[in-house]
This record gives sequence, structure tokens and C-alpha cells, in this order.
Amino acid sequence: MKPIKRFDQMRLVLAEHNRFYADRLKPGTPWEEIPFTTKQQIVDDQALHPPFGTNLTFSIENYVRIHQTSGTAGKPILWLDTQESWDWWLRCWSEVYKGAGVRRGDRVYVAFSFGPFIGFWAAFEAAQRMGVMSISGGGQSTEQRLHSIFQREATVLVCTPTYALRLADVARQQGIDIRRSYIRITLHAGEPGASIPETRKRIQEAFDAKTFDHVGMTEMGAYGYECEVQSGLHINEDEFIAEMIDPSTLRPVEDGEKGELVLTNLGRIGMPLIRYRSGDLGVISRKPCECGRQSSRLVGGVLGRADDMITIRGINIFPSAIENIVRRFPEIVEFAIEVHRRAGMHELHLKVEIEGAPVGVINGLAQELSNDLRIRAIIQHVEGGSLPRFELKSRRLTFLE
Ligand SMILES: [Zn+2]
Repeated sequence: MKPIKRFDQMRLVLAEHNRFYADRLKPGTPWEEIPFTTKQQIVDDQALHPPFGTNLTFSIENYVRIHQTSGTAGKPILWLDTQESWDWWLRCWSEVYKGAGVRRGDRVYVAFSFGPFIGFWAAFEAAQRMGVMSISGGGQSTEQRLHSIFQREATVLVCTPTYALRLADVARQQGIDIRRSYIRITLHAGEPGASIPETRKRIQEAFDAKTFDHVGMTEMGAYGYECEVQSGLHINEDEFIAEMIDPSTLRPVEDGEKGELVLTNLGRIGMPLIRYRSGDLGVISRKPCECGRQSSRLVGGVLGRADDMITIRGINIFPSAIENIVRRFPEIVEFAIEVHRRAGMHELHLKVEIEGAPVGVINGLAQELSNDLRIRAIIQHVEGGSLPRFELKSRRLTFLE
């Protein structure tokens, strides 16, 4: 069934049964006049009608799972799934695996302890649903996980890009050659890292594997994935309606122009999101991909979040652009970005942990930041192990007043 037809059917149900969307979806309202949904509206609704808010289409006994957002950008929100919508989640995730070439006989190692965050639960169960062995890396130290990856002969690694590099780093310290493991595919989300060319390269080289990005949100679903051609993130347009808007005017932008992605999910009718402002910024291309898929793509992945943009002397940059330069230097083990706000201006400070002699690396980094991004940064070499290490979403960017 065509996505918009599915939406029309869903809309009838929501108008009648979903308190949050009933008013927004009055009969006869054309698509472009349906108001955008924002995360703040959901936060407010859940605060006003605790604990789950009013975006529930069915009575509560129909829901079988509760998850919550990571809360990276504010208060976590709770999200409920029915059995039907959970099955839909797994179907969306199986597209992520198929895009990366995961198949029967693979062994998927999910290097993470499963908490209330949804992504890894879905990854684990979707692999199982496809007939692929799923291995949990929960409740283990990084050293134990390395051991498990070898001992269980895992072929696919699922984790954040940061954690993949952490595994490689610890392996090196322990004298373990991770390139000799069976891992042939690494699959990442949670941060833009796997779409950042230099980060991707570093993970691929560390594991001697092919690295894939995908993207999803707890409250939305796994909406984008890479195919074998790796020409951006395919948006799963069978299950999501994607629009691109200018975040300041809220008007649609042309294909090829940078905008904020607005998404509608079609398979989560129990707790849906209609025209949801994802906060993810990117550029859409509707040119057909060499892989044969017809869906539109986010070229270069998610470029950043609207609230992460740094303005240095009138130049707008995302942390991912800085990361792409930092990762060119294999001597840099970890880094942190501090943005000091002074009199309305941003000043960029980079803290770096360097293995070996720092002077050449610092000069080289300053030079490349200046050449490629036309920015000046104050670079500070800090002691090895002093910067935080991350397993789930990294927080390498801090704004200081
Ligand atoms: Zn493709």
C-alpha cells in the first residue's frame, strides 16, 4: 500500500481514538497544514499527563514494551509499543541489516548492556527474527567483550562508532590483533561517526571490516540505513514519510539543500509521530542509487543536530566536521570540544590526548582546521586517559558560558 494511503487510514483511527492527535488531524486538513510535532510538545504532554502522556491510541493493556529516549537533549521521554508496533520496529531494523549485507550464518555481537534505550534491543531481536545468531555483550567489561568477539566467532559488530574505536584501542593495549577476528561488518548509530569519512576509515582499518552507518530515534523508529554502495543513508520510505524543512522559516527546502528532517512513521499507530521535527540536519537526494533502491537518501548521513551548531567568526560548523579532521591523526586517542561563549562569540577549544610527541600533531591539527574549515582553535594536549570514554552516545561537545 502507498505510504500516503496508509497514512490516510491511520489518520481516521487517530482522529477518533488518540487524544494527542485528534485535534491536529481534523478531517479535511490538508497534509501541509497538519501542524509539526516537536519533542518539547511530547515532553510537556507527558509532564501534564504523567507518566505516558495522551499520545496513546489504544487502552494501556495493549502495550507490551516501554523504552525511553537517551535524554541527550533534555528530559527523557517514555515511548510505548504494542506487539504490532514492536514487530514493525524489527522489520525496519531488518532493512538495516539487509542494507549492510548481513545474512543467515552471520553472528551479530551487540556490544552493549541493554538498558531502557531501545536501539540495541531492536538490533538484537531483529537479527534473531531474520534467523541470524544474536550475541549479547551486556554486563561485560571491554576486555571481556573482546574475548567474546573472538571466542564466539562474531562476524557483525553492532555498537556506537566511539565504542568500536574504544574496543580497538583496548585490544591494542592488550596486544590483541582485532583484525584477526571474524568481524566482517561493523554497524553503527547513535552518533554520525560512521558517516564521517575519517572515522569510518579508522574503524574499517582497525577491524579489517566494512563499516556501515544507520539512523533511528527511540520515539520514531529506525528510519535510515546504508546499502552496499554507501552513497548516503537510504530513508525507509515504505515505513516513513520524509520531508525537509528550513528550521527557521519552517518552509520546505529543495532537494539538495540543507534542511531539518521531518518524519512521520506509518507502523507505530499505538504511539505515532506525525510530521515530527527530528532535529537531524541533512541534505536529501532523490536520484536513484546504484543499488537499485528507489528511496531518497541523506547524502553524507546526518550532518548534525540543530542545537550542536558552532559559529566561529561567522562560520557555521558541526562537530562532525571537526571530528573528520581530528580522526586524520592516528596519534590522537581521544578528544573533546569546548565552545566558550564570549560576548555572543564562540571560541573553540580542543582538548586532545596524544600518544607520542604532541608538538607535531598539535601544529598539524591547527593547520588542517585552518585550511579545511577556516577556523582557529586553541588546542590543548591533556594527559592520557583524562578525557571521558563513552559506550553509548558520546558527549564530546560542551558549551561553556
Ligand atoms: Zn543504495
